[in-house]
Amino acid sequence: MKALVYHGPGKKAWEDTSKPAIQKPTDAVVRILRTTICGTDLHILKGDVAECTDGLILGHEGVGVVDEIGSAVSNFKKGDHVIISCITSCGKCGACRKGMYSHCADGGWILGHLINGTQAEYVRIPHADGSLHQVPAGADEDALVMLSDILPTGFECGVLKGAVKPGDVIALVGAGPVGLAALMTAQFFSPAESIVIDLDDNRLAVSKTFGATSTVNSREGTAAAQVMSATKNVGVDVAIEAVGVPASFDICQDIVAPGGHLANIGVHGKNVELKMASLWSQNITLTTRLVDTVTLPMLLKTVLSGKLQPRKLITHEFGLSDLAKAYDVFGNAAKERALKVLLKGG
Ligand code: ZN
Ligand code: ZN
Repeated sequence: MKALVYHGPGKKAWEDTSKPAIQKPTDAVVRILRTTICGTDLHILKGDVAECTDGLILGHEGVGVVDEIGSAVSNFKKGDHVIISCITSCGKCGACRKGMYSHCADGGWILGHLINGTQAEYVRIPHADGSLHQVPAGADEDALVMLSDILPTGFECGVLKGAVKPGDVIALVGAGPVGLAALMTAQFFSPAESIVIDLDDNRLAVSKTFGATSTVNSREGTAAAQVMSATKNVGVDVAIEAVGVPASFDICQDIVAPGGHLANIGVHGKNVELKMASLWSQNITLTTRLVDTVTLPMLLKTVLSGKLQPRKLITHEFGLSDLAKAYDVFGNAAKERALKVLLKGG
């Protein structure tokens, strides 16, 4: 089969490799129908994720069809269409019993990280019963790819951890796919105002179609001051960080109101400075989380009903064999006006 194989920092190729086989009775092998590229994959290619080694197949999102199951898989059979969670869950360990699949003792984020991922014609999914979800007949499978990672990530790490409530003023720093997923799912709770902050005017314009009530371009370094003046120097009830660099985390620290929440989503490669001299007395809650995808079944219902329309995040489509070209587009997201790029298999 063919797959997108990582060969160390800056190097990748769409090349021949061996088709995965069942290794444990709880495994399934899935033929990929749809996959996509995540910002995390770009971090891996930059060399930011040291555990990723030469020869790894990238990718942790996708929809596919079950090709083969191990003898202990009971929820799925050959031919079932499935959503692949980016998080592998055994369902039995202490973390899984708490619903914290991200820290599963025999899973968590392993696809396209510690084991071969979904940017391939076939992928082996460990603990298939806990890590796959049935695609209902007639569903828009393109849209369902957004349930593998970005919608649960925006919702769980941003909206739920940020405890967005009706009437809140919220701010989202970073209008990439995950930030927009947080913006979209925050609307479940009817915030009064949703302020979106980014460097890219195109993304800011797009955010208005997902519920942004105002936007701020942070190019000039005055984003925090603009948000403070727009909120009469009170700040925001919930500041959601969806970039993962010190500058964007600083904006969140500077705009969170007394009693507010600062919810981090961003993948940080570098430490940030916590401004305790000003925050110690502000009654704020700072949260971090790795997505568990525990809300995937609920989010699936809202997508099927049309309440959420994540398909609008897809800006580009390619055939699976054009993965390298898709990386070029996604890697130049601002110039290409790219949000999610969808790869379709045969
Ligand atoms: Zn991802
Ligand atoms: Zn587990």
